[in-house]
Amino acid sequence: MSERRVAVITGGGSGLGQAVAFRLAKEGVHIVVVDISEEAGQKTVHLVEELGTRAIFVKADVSKAEEVKAYVDKTVEEFGTIDMFYNNAGISGPGVKFVDNTIEQIDMVLGINLNGALYGLKYVLEVMLANGGGRIVNTSSTAGIVGQATVGTYSAAKHAMVGITKTLAAEYAAQGIVVNAIAPGTTETPMVREYKEKNPDAFVNATEPIPQKRLGQPEEVAELVTFLLTGNAPYINGVVVPIDGGFTAI
Ligand code: NAD
Repeated sequence: MSERRVAVITGGGSGLGQAVAFRLAKEGVHIVVVDISEEAGQKTVHLVEELGTRAIFVKADVSKAEEVKAYVDKTVEEFGTIDMFYNNAGISGPGVKFVDNTIEQIDMVLGINLNGALYGLKYVLEVMLANGGGRIVNTSSTAGIVGQATVGTYSAAKHAMVGITKTLAAEYAAQGIVVNAIAPGTTETPMVREYKEKNPDAFVNATEPIPQKRLGQPEEVAELVTFLLTGNAPYINGVVVPIDGGFTAI
């Protein structure tokens, strides 16, 4: 694949999505930034263009199936195909024990983190299958591998990302689809900074249980995602790769 390729990144306006946009742009990949925030998404597009590749912004709320279909259609209209999909948009939720969630909070976290990710996979896969294959990275979390207090609904959605990743590898590997998930530990993005401000108690001694005694950096996650989406090891398929300073290893 020497020609420039096309990547769709949901939640590309901030944090991990933005870091991956910059890293893929350095590989010459064309970037479609999908985000609910026009301002954030347009900023990423502008910065990606400065790196010398083509980028467009498509505003979408990933929890709405019709808006997901629209970002996929727009990508195909502009670029003709989708080669890579970083299925990343997500929110952390209210940071309370499970029974203290309202039904609206449960629905919102599942609507974005679970339904939104599944809608994206359905419509992106339709394009990839028609065009002979592609690579996908789903965004799980350490909360998709182990339980973590105060993020119950989030954890349920992130465990589901593991299930769909393995299922899609089983279903579509023979048709050229490579699909993996990443499971980042706490990484210093705006989402984490906001969560920390709202729930300071949850962050007391946050690094203590992490063997490497520090939080992750978005650029480290971007290296991993770029390797999974563009690297020369497509036999890695259907796995969940932790990137957590050893947090889930002990
Ligand atoms: P972030 O808040 O910095 O960025 C998330 C982006 O998603 C924002 O630009 C936001 O506008 C967008 N977004 C939110 N709701 C949306 C919606 N309904 N439709 C479209 N876009 C929407 O967060 P982040 O830390 O970069 O997290 C990105 C992903 O990584 C999430 O799925 C998160 O659960 C996961 N994750 C993050 C960490 C961490 O510590 N930062 C750890 C594990 C997993």
